Amino acid sequence: MTTERIIEIAKECGFDEVNPLDPKTFVQSQMVRDTCATNKCGGYGANWGCPPHSTAEEDNAKLQSYEHGLILQCIGRSSKRIDRKMYAETGKRLADGIRRLKDIMTEEYPDCLALGAGGCRFCEKCARPEPCRFPDKRIEALEGYGIFITQLCRDNNVLYYYGEGTIAYNAAILW
Ligand code: SF4
Repeated sequence: MTTERIIEIAKECGFDEVNPLDPKTFVQSQMVRDTCATNKCGGYGANWGCPPHSTAEEDNAKLQSYEHGLILQCIGRSSKRIDRKMYAETGKRLADGIRRLKDIMTEEYPDCLALGAGGCRFCEKCARPEPCRFPDKRIEALEGYGIFITQLCRDNNVLYYYGEGTIAYNAAILW
């Protein structure tokens, strides 16, 4: 499949902005890794979509082993200063979109890596520490790989901030 066709499919899956991502731009942020380790969300070590999975060097080597990638964004807009309903709807659009895209991509690229926001929610309760029940359905957290998303966007010439009253949630697909 051409990258152009994958971009079209990603938009059909509900992403508002889809832009090329060069896997060589992945760099590890110790700050992001340390933030995950504080386990405020409860996923650290409890969900196979979350860290810890390996060392920073191993995580980066895995990400950089892919030839192609896309940054996928869902953008929420609201006239309110804080709009939790819009945040939730935008987050759900992102989660649904990365799930649909992964299913489509896996048919042609069984080793593709889908990276979303937060841990994997495919099962009601993740099996960790027992083995993942559905590895081919697993969505892993982009930040869980130690990635500072603002920097990733900047290094790929992608906007991270779309103006007042907006929020951008980010995902990625690598193949
Ligand atoms: S597919 Fe299920 S067991 Fe595997 S990471 Fe996702 S929630 Fe956990």
